[in-house]
Amino acid sequence: MNKNPVWRREGRRTGGYVLLLLGIALQGCVSLGRPAVALQRPQMDPPLAQVAAAFTRSCEGGKRESNNCAHFLSDAFIRAGYAELLTSTHIEQRCVCGAGRVVRAQDLLRWFQEKSKRFHAGTPPKSSGIWAVYQEKPGRRHVLLLDTDTGKYYGTDNCVNWPVQWAYQW
Ligand SMILES: [Zn+2]
Repeated sequence: MNKNPVWRREGRRTGGYVLLLLGIALQGCVSLGRPAVALQRPQMDPPLAQVAAAFTRSCEGGKRESNNCAHFLSDAFIRAGYAELLTSTHIEQRCVCGAGRVVRAQDLLRWFQEKSKRFHAGTPPKSSGIWAVYQEKPGRRHVLLLDTDTGKYYGTDNCVNWPVQWAYQW
């Protein structure tokens, strides 16, 4: 038992041979008497690079909308592991395919804002990683992923000249 002094303290405090024997049997595989919250891992968001890699310019559902920027980008997010997008209350309209993808750029914008840990107004600086970008001009809205390290974008278009350029990272 000398190998596990922490556990031994716990065993003594609870004062039971049953716990002691259980502890020996499990050889420290469980922590007795610790609060359950300590056992939970923080939920990790897939990196945006993973979303970029998952971008296929299509939807798993196989159909097209009249405008596919949010449709195909949300498909990449969901393929990359963001299942939360399938149930997010920010999403008011979903794709005709039945695959649950987002079809409105402003719905994705609200979700970007919720996820955001860093915001940049305007085109984000070179070599600052991958950003989720919302672009807007009167009557038009667009979303994409922009990789400032490579200059590549992942989306149906990159509307660099539109007056609104909002970038988010998390
Ligand atoms: Zn779809």
